[in-house]
Amino acid sequence: MPDPETDTDDEPAPADAFAALSDPVRLDILDALTEHHRDEGHDPIGFAALRRRVGVRDSGRFRYHLNQLRARFVERTDDGYRLTATGARVAGAILAGTYTESVSLGPAELDSTCPFCGTPAVATVREGQCVVSCAEDHPLFSWHVPANATTDATLAEVVDLAELLAFQAIEQALAGVCTQCYDSVETTVGDPSEPGFRAACDTCPARLVGPITFPLLVDPDVAGWCRAHGYTLREDHVWEFPFVGDDASVEAVDARDAESATDAADGCTTADGGELVVTVAIDDDSLTATLDADGRVVAVAEN
Ligand SMILES: [Zn+2]
Ligand SMILES: [Zn+2]
Repeated sequence: MPDPETDTDDEPAPADAFAALSDPVRLDILDALTEHHRDEGHDPIGFAALRRRVGVRDSGRFRYHLNQLRARFVERTDDGYRLTATGARVAGAILAGTYTESVSLGPAELDSTCPFCGTPAVATVREGQCVVSCAEDHPLFSWHVPANATTDATLAEVVDLAELLAFQAIEQALAGVCTQCYDSVETTVGDPSEPGFRAACDTCPARLVGPITFPLLVDPDVAGWCRAHGYTLREDHVWEFPFVGDDASVEAVDARDAESATDAADGCTTADGGELVVTVAIDDDSLTATLDADGRVVAVAEN
């Protein structure tokens, strides 16, 4: 059996990290260190003071549990112990009930209608998932929300938050970073016969699947064009945008077309191969955006 005192330089495997959190005393230690951090800032706390806070009499037993948290969650300095950055984040999530609590809201009608059938949009929050649909069960929106963000919120506020988090996740995925674990994600746009924006994390189970128009909505030029036509993300619900559903026309672009799209957009660069040209319409106006193979908007032209 490895000695935790000598094992702390190795990078712990994920299963080891969860095992380290498997004992109530260790969660109490994280809790006490969080409280200390809140009161005293980043200064470490001594072994005896920490043991008193946690309320474990047996110093050998306490040291054993404290050592299980070292390396990943707790660091030892000359003056005592404190949370690592990871420890602070994990402790915050556990204490906020992110992994344990479950809040239910709705179903209730929102002040919005389904673009497919015209009936009121209906939102529900169950087990951390915010789902918006309608009487005809048209899927309008779905995203997860942390439990601690839903405890004192109205259903409409939770929907707004879920939309904000979803679009932050899209922006973060386009930057190549997972919103759940901060490891790298790969984004794809499919092909013209089956377009869609997808992001998959290399490390954790996080997945993002949405219409090909999602990466357009976070592009400043497209957002400006939408705003000029009366639609603003976060003021209007995402399913209310006229082209977010199935109304976008999607074509492949070969290298020569990509060049002309680049010229039209004056100075934007276009990646090699795999681009898609997406045309969206609001009222009588339309806009064409060129997406590279990762879903980043590389050129925008009003038609
Ligand atoms: Zn509907
Ligand atoms: Zn991840």
